[in-house]
Amino acid sequence: MNEYEEEFSEVVADLDQVEDVPTDDLFAVLSRDGACMWVRTTGEEPQWTGDDRVDRALAAPICGGCPVRRECLEFEFRTSGYALSGVWGPLSEEERRAAFVVWLDRRDGLGDEASAGGDQP
Ligand code: SF4
Repeated sequence: MNEYEEEFSEVVADLDQVEDVPTDDLFAVLSRDGACMWVRTTGEEPQWTGDDRVDRALAAPICGGCPVRRECLEFEFRTSGYALSGVWGPLSEEERRAAFVVWLDRRDGLGDEASAGGDQP
């Protein structure tokens, strides 16, 4: 087991629970229940800075209380793949890319959508 597998295996294994959920259904759940959607509509969205470290700190409490974190990360891996960007809870883009590689390995058969997200390392 390499260092990334060790670090992210638990996070990635948790995504098995939504492996069979269609991507459109994941999107519908995120749109309805994502905490970030809620803060946008209530005007309580943080003042994003564009600095990844600062923005992750701002996003952490929002994502930390989000009921659909699992669906969100699964959706991101399927639709963005290695080309993912932006803020997701406590994980930086670099960490999510590392977790994505672990996710691909775990899923073994690469889905069409997963491979659409850009080159792998
Ligand atoms: S985990 Fe974070 S980015 Fe994803 S839907 Fe929830 S609040 Fe939004």
